[in-house]
Amino acid sequence: MKVKEALRSFGTDYRDAELLLLHCLGRDERSWLIAHDHDELPTDIVEAFSSMSKERLKGVPLAYLLGHREFWSLKLKVTRDVLIPRPETELLVEWAAELASHHDLQSMLDLGTGSGAIALAVQHDLPHLSVTASDVSELALRVARENAENLGLPVEFVESSWFDALAKRRWALIVSNPPYVAADDGHLLEGDLRFEPNTALTDEGDGLSSIREIASNAPDHLEAGGWLLIEHGYDQAADVRSILELNGFSKVSLRHDLAGRPRVTGGCWQC
Ligand code: GLN
Repeated sequence: MKVKEALRSFGTDYRDAELLLLHCLGRDERSWLIAHDHDELPTDIVEAFSSMSKERLKGVPLAYLLGHREFWSLKLKVTRDVLIPRPETELLVEWAAELASHHDLQSMLDLGTGSGAIALAVQHDLPHLSVTASDVSELALRVARENAENLGLPVEFVESSWFDALAKRRWALIVSNPPYVAADDGHLLEGDLRFEPNTALTDEGDGLSSIREIASNAPDHLEAGGWLLIEHGYDQAADVRSILELNGFSKVSLRHDLAGRPRVTGGCWQC
């Protein structure tokens, strides 16, 4: 089967087909496909491509099939053990990096790091910041550690359910993209979310319980004048604001993602 034919044969979106075929060929450049559209493909490549295309048609996220996703211009390995990094989470990275550089902060903790996306992106931009990243999932931490190694970034990883294994430690900045989708939210049954680890998406409750837990314990782990930034759902901004205020945070403010949706709320401890 020729390259050109293969790309149209298995019914996946054309752009996805291109990326999957390049992946099977061990190549990166789309231009190769265009230049070689009349090349005959080896049978084993056609078989591998056909089986990945079938998975894609069943809805398996492209990032899991390719095994990586770009985030903050970093190529991150992803497996089914971690949430696929989303573009809207770059807002959290942007805000964290801005706070750290403007206030000359020395340390940051990323709670529930998953693939390591947030911690690694901030560390990449601010090499002098001391960055710690935690996750309750040992499998997720394996992926995050591998990403840190591939990128040569010195993030410290700790296995911990929120703050449980971090007793007595303090940071100048704490960030998190916790599971905030409510258990009865229909989105869990749609698109990529169907294939992502449930524990990374939902608290199996009202969507705010992880945020409550983080906000109520963060004061024991923040330096005076430190900041807590939390990603949340588009309709949770008012709730997250009151959770932060209830726990004694001040200067509580909200930022919107590129799609204009309320996405990250932050507050300052003892400001
Ligand atoms: N932003 C994700 C979504 O698309 C949810 C991620 C999370 O729960 N932290 O629903």
